[in-house]
Amino acid sequence: MNIPEKVKILYKEYTVEEQENLHDGGKELYGQIHYLSEKIMLNTNSSDKQKEATFLHEIIHGLDEMYCIGLKEKQVEKLGTALYILLQDNPKMFGENL
Ligand SMILES: [Zn+2]
Repeated sequence: MNIPEKVKILYKEYTVEEQENLHDGGKELYGQIHYLSEKIMLNTNSSDKQKEATFLHEIIHGLDEMYCIGLKEKQVEKLGTALYILLQDNPKMFGENL
């Protein structure tokens, strides 16, 4: 997967950035989405695969917020994993040479 520098969700354009020491309170995070400043943060220290999975997870949060779906965190986690596996199992689905 190519993690892009920007992701558009309806009229919002999220900038994707990496950051060390990503925390929420005392807990270290893999990623975080900021709806107001339109940023998706990924923890620099996580593996490439973890970054990809986290990136999808944060996008689902972004979709949930934009389209008022009302997902719970557990549902976002499960959808994120499901999408990640779907993309791995069907690598050409969103490829450029379709
Ligand atoms: Zn989450």
